[in-house]
Amino acid sequence: MKRHVFTVAALVGAVAGFSLTASPALAQKEQFITIGTGGQTGVYYVVGQSVCRLVNRGSSEHGIRCNAPSTGGSVANVNGIRAGELDLGVVQSDVQYQAYEGTGGFEGNQFEDLRAVFALHGEPLTLVARADSGIKSLSDLPGKRVNIGNPGSGQRNTMQVLMDALGWDTNTFSLASELEAAEQASALANNQIDAMVYVVGHPNGSIEEATATTDARLVEVSGDVVDELVEKYPYYAKATIPGGTYRGNEEDVETYGVAATFVTSANTDDELVYQTVKAVFDNFDRFKRLHPAFAVLEPEDMISGGLTAPLHEGAKRYYREQGWID
Ligand code: GLU
Repeated sequence: MKRHVFTVAALVGAVAGFSLTASPALAQKEQFITIGTGGQTGVYYVVGQSVCRLVNRGSSEHGIRCNAPSTGGSVANVNGIRAGELDLGVVQSDVQYQAYEGTGGFEGNQFEDLRAVFALHGEPLTLVARADSGIKSLSDLPGKRVNIGNPGSGQRNTMQVLMDALGWDTNTFSLASELEAAEQASALANNQIDAMVYVVGHPNGSIEEATATTDARLVEVSGDVVDELVEKYPYYAKATIPGGTYRGNEEDVETYGVAATFVTSANTDDELVYQTVKAVFDNFDRFKRLHPAFAVLEPEDMISGGLTAPLHEGAKRYYREQGWID
């Protein structure tokens, strides 16, 4: 009878993805890591869920449990890591640069303990306008109702730099709303705003929602001011959103953008960062299949481009083991 119970329990364990046999994990103390992401219809949320899924597959060996809640985005993630509320987070490369160097939105608020882990997908500054708004270029935005992003988001930070360069402020628009990323698409569809701005990988749920529920167009973000910004700042590059990615948008759209990066603090335990990085790169083919924006990622690029802050010691340990760095 006893044996029968054990067998059923073992079967339940196997189905639920855990093992009831004695393992080193039982002797280990459980540790928890929290990864800061973004809105639920963006790509950061998928990054966090994907990394956690791979980390949690190995929980019985390393004792680490990972979770990745939705957050306000890049700036909220940097602040959450600094405050010790988040262990790791996804952050735009321009935000990483500004936070580590104490420039831009982080002037007088430098975060020297910020550490890079790896870079991810590209994030074009994506301007989406209602087809009936008459917005066909950046210069059509003044006087319109524009969602410039919630204050914790990366797009708000990037948009601020662009607005400053253009000599614009919130009064330039008839409405400068601060809706969260996940609220933008329905606001556009409900005609509460004329345009939304999202610095984000493609394809993503937010812009799929916007273009599926209303006639919306991706708008080119270009001109002399954009050229000057790309020239001046190392973290900006020209970018193209391929035609056919979204309903009603068959043409390529030119813009500029940044990269998504994965960061932490120097104060985060080396072993936690090591195990997180190991979970991703030991299962890299699986990771790349979890979102189309990850499909083109290559480890060599991920540990070189887009990073300003020094690599975290725990990440370095894994990259050294792989022979990727000295
Ligand atoms: N780049 C956006 C931000 O920093 C988030 C994009 C996403 O969630 O994929 O807030």
